[in-house]
Amino acid sequence: MSTTITEYRLDGIYRQRQDGFFMQRVKLAAGVISADQARVVAAVSTRFGRGTVHLTTRGSMEIHWLKEADLPAVKSSLSAVGLTARGACGGAVRGVTCASQGALGFPAVETMARRLHRHFTANPRFERLPKKFKIGVEADASGRRHLIQDAGLVLSGTDGTGARYDLFVAGGLGREPQPGFLFEAGVSENRVIPLIEAIARVYAAHTPAGKRLKHLVREIGEAEFRRLVAAEPSAAEELPAVSGLPENLVEVANTRRIVAPVHAGELTSGQLLDLAGFADRFGGSVLMATADQDIAFHVDAALEATDTASALKQIGFGEQQVAFRICPGSHQCLVGLSATRDVALTLIEQMGPAASNLGWALSGCPNSCTQPQLADVGIVSSSLVKDEHGRRSPRFDLYRSGGEGLGKVRESSLTLEELCGKVREIG
Ligand code: SF4
Repeated sequence: MSTTITEYRLDGIYRQRQDGFFMQRVKLAAGVISADQARVVAAVSTRFGRGTVHLTTRGSMEIHWLKEADLPAVKSSLSAVGLTARGACGGAVRGVTCASQGALGFPAVETMARRLHRHFTANPRFERLPKKFKIGVEADASGRRHLIQDAGLVLSGTDGTGARYDLFVAGGLGREPQPGFLFEAGVSENRVIPLIEAIARVYAAHTPAGKRLKHLVREIGEAEFRRLVAAEPSAAEELPAVSGLPENLVEVANTRRIVAPVHAGELTSGQLLDLAGFADRFGGSVLMATADQDIAFHVDAALEATDTASALKQIGFGEQQVAFRICPGSHQCLVGLSATRDVALTLIEQMGPAASNLGWALSGCPNSCTQPQLADVGIVSSSLVKDEHGRRSPRFDLYRSGGEGLGKVRESSLTLEELCGKVREIG
């Protein structure tokens, strides 16, 4: 096979920590997937992987434990049901996310996410960017997810011409977390794509390889960045209005949201099949991968809440014990510094009622994929330290969020034991 491992990235594939194994990420616009598509993800995982599916905090699905020789068959199986992984990794426009799937404005947001996904996915003009380019579309600003995107849209209202969005840009987490800034308020929906195109072009033309948009804005300043974007021909362009039937799959009116909690976003393919069956029965054959690594459904509001809850319980999805976002860490990720799932279980054992009522996030390295800076309590595995016997153990930074902007580091370089002590102090 002549394709290099770096080239696989644009097909949404990373090398796994375990030699000879690969991870395939699947993009889902706004986290929405049909029951039939979910069955194919489950079948691919069973046939080519080890029958597990990981839910990410960007509403994507990942299939681990794939062999290189099977990657073409994986791609064609997913493509056959309209699923794509193109640009899910590498220097491309990543999956378009949404954390406000339960909001009344979600149908408009889902439609916008689908338009963006369709426009930027596999578009050679926006592949081979200096690094990833993340877009999120939110129905409101409450979750603060718009602050951590390269381009974060927040629905600000609708008028005779359609929906309008506030556009925040140049946000990101990682080693240098930086909230995005308001680039323009009330952008009409038909200007969103050309304006983001202009921003992505400026990013591609002026940013060194390996750096995010936030780096460029830090280097040249907001005013110069605005000047460069305004000079792009598409910055002021307005696309013709879209007409036709609605393209959102999720109904919000007259429905009730119900969530199947998934610990650490780890599902077996059998569980995913059961959830697809639940979606067929109650949720209009649609599943939603959430920003908290769970699976949600919008069920008919006329159905008794106890009936749907008990149907979910029968397939093994009861009440959530602790809301805890957890990345694969050193269990599978090449750069993971800690065994995140084991660490999380240790921490949960230390939690009293006050702690277990909070929202938690643990990342296996400073890349901060679980968005610890947006959780009530965020933990980042920040380094590995060698003891006198040469054994390496992780150190952790602890973030607390005041509910506005990004959470701040409160404690750094804690051992696991010290971290457990901090968890007990929370109560
Ligand atoms: S935070 Fe680090 S360890 Fe966790 S998934 Fe992201 S890159 Fe991997």
